[in-house]
Amino acid sequence: MKAFKPHLQKLPSYPYQKSEAPIKLDQNESPYDLPLELKKRVLQRLQELDFNRYPDLHAEEVRQRLAAFLDWPAEGLVVAPGSNLLIQILAQAAEQVLDTAPSFPHYAFSARVAATPYRAIPLGADFALPLEALLEALEAGPGVLFLPNPHAPTARLFSEGEVRCLAKKAAQTGWLLVLDEAYHQFAGTDSLPLARTNPHVALLRTFSKAWGLGGIRAGYLVAAPEVCRVVQNFVPPFGLPAHTAQVLLTVLESPTYVQNIVQTLVAEREKLLRALQTHPTWQAYPSQTNFILLRTPDAEAAYQGLLRQGILVRRQDRYPGLEGCIRVSVGTPEENQRFLQAAFALAEVPHA
Ligand SMILES: *Cc1c(COP(=O)(O)O)cnc(C)c1O
Repeated sequence: MKAFKPHLQKLPSYPYQKSEAPIKLDQNESPYDLPLELKKRVLQRLQELDFNRYPDLHAEEVRQRLAAFLDWPAEGLVVAPGSNLLIQILAQAAEQVLDTAPSFPHYAFSARVAATPYRAIPLGADFALPLEALLEALEAGPGVLFLPNPHAPTARLFSEGEVRCLAKKAAQTGWLLVLDEAYHQFAGTDSLPLARTNPHVALLRTFSKAWGLGGIRAGYLVAAPEVCRVVQNFVPPFGLPAHTAQVLLTVLESPTYVQNIVQTLVAEREKLLRALQTHPTWQAYPSQTNFILLRTPDAEAAYQGLLRQGILVRRQDRYPGLEGCIRVSVGTPEENQRFLQAAFALAEVPHA
């Protein structure tokens, strides 16, 4: 198709294939739907909503509520239908994109679609942050550095000191450090204090994980007003659907359910990790998220073996440094129990 820019001709599609199984542990979703009482309140609000009317231009009401929730000015917030869209926008607006490898694949994918120069620095041993190499890369700039923290897909949390070091360098060199905090609730961390003191730090947050709203599609950027003005221009006018806004307004009124779910999932994660430490052939990496990265002797065999027992996980072995790896989301206590049984049963099977 000659109508499109040449770099788009041979671009592969986003690497995801839908599969189904009774126990779905492949997308790091919350295993818990929104509490019924809140769902009823959403339905009530939707009933009263005029479907024929456009929503706010830039999600003003949601941004006001979110501003109060975070104690952060509304001019420093952009709300979009998924933080994936915000990643795409940042990659498109950036002079260049700097990333770690392995990393959340949407950063690299978005840079490619936007034809933005892209570079990734490999993580160190045990997925350590390659701080020296990143600091050096920030000398050649400026641009946007994406850093998921806790990191995906390794589930590792980088220290506050390391992140502060990168932020300080970004301020000196004109880069924007984008901390993707998709999983921060599971680590008990919060980079808002850092963003308050440094306009070269922006945060990405999502409602898809701890909030249990993956199907609703909502995420937001926390940044300096000058950053938000640029990003907001890429979000189509009236871009946050009215029904999504109603869900967000409802949960922001009653956010305490999130803490309960996070507590349960963190306790389950620790139980899973303890149990997996005794697995004869799989290695479980420590996690500060709602998922666990596992190294197996054969990712395909592990994936298919689990699937035969009704459990869907995500293969990660196609990424450099993740040979043999699969990723499993923390589910309900029952699901996790089933997963453990299946994982240990697989080790009993003589290798085919
Ligand atoms: C899940 C996830 C997101 C969330 O994207 P949404 O579009 O908001 O659902 C963003 N970043 C990372 C690292 C994630 O794992």
